[in-house]
Amino acid sequence: MKLLLIEDEIKLTQYLKKGLVAEGFVVDIAHSGIDGLHLATEGQYDLIILDGMLPDLDGLGVLQALRQSNKKSTAVLMLTARSMVEDRVKGLQAGADDYLTKPFAFSELVARVHALMRRTIGVGNNGNPQAAATSLSLADLELDALKRQARRAGQDLRLTAKEFTLLWLLLRRKGEVLSRTELAELVWDMHFDSETNVVDVAIRRLRGKMDDPFNTPLLHTVRGMGYVLELRPEPPQDGNES
Ligand code: CA
Repeated sequence: MKLLLIEDEIKLTQYLKKGLVAEGFVVDIAHSGIDGLHLATEGQYDLIILDGMLPDLDGLGVLQALRQSNKKSTAVLMLTARSMVEDRVKGLQAGADDYLTKPFAFSELVARVHALMRRTIGVGNNGNPQAAATSLSLADLELDALKRQARRAGQDLRLTAKEFTLLWLLLRRKGEVLSRTELAELVWDMHFDSETNVVDVAIRRLRGKMDDPFNTPLLHTVRGMGYVLELRPEPPQDGNES
C-alpha cells in the first residue's frame, strides 16, 4: 500500500511517515502543493493524505487539479484546521473522500486510512483494479492488506510489518523479477548500497516463515537479478528421492 503525504510542516511529515512506515505502508512525501500534485499525477498511490494549508498551491487547488487529471479516482484524505469548517465543506465538494481535523491522534489517522482503503475497494480504481486490490493470492498463499494478515495453507504466517510489505509487493507483481535496488527503494525507502544486505536478510527471514515450513517454494532467487514470487512446475522426481 503506497501513500503520498502532502504537507509542508517538516516535523509533522517526519513523525507521520515514521508511524505509517511502521504500520507497513510505503510513504512518499511532498512539502508543497505543486510538488505533491506532480508526484500524485506521475506516481501510483493507493491513497493521498493532503494538508489544506500549503505554501504554493493549497490543498483545495491540488485536489481540484487532481480530480481533473488521469489520477482522478485516487482516494484523498484531507487534513484541515479546526477553524476551517468552510474549507472542509469545499474540500468534500471538490472530491475529498474524507477529512481529519488537526490536531489529531496518530491512531485516528491510521483508522481513517484503513477505513478509506476499505471503502475504495468495491468502487475500484478506474482502469487500474490492481491499485485498489486489498487481497492477493498465489497457490495456497493469501494476503489481506486490511487485516495485515498473511496466510499459507490456512496458517497465519505472523509477518512483521516490513515482511508483509515486502511480500505484498512481490505478490502484487508475481512472476516479475524485482531487483534488490527496487525492493530497497520501495520497501525501505532507501537507495541501494552494495554494502547493505538488508534486502537479502529480510528475504531470508521471509522465506523462513512463508516457504520453509511448506512443501512448495514460491519465493525464488534469480541469480544476478533479484527475486520473484511464482508457482513453478514441480521438477521431475526419480521415485525414491525426496
Ligand atoms: Ca500545512
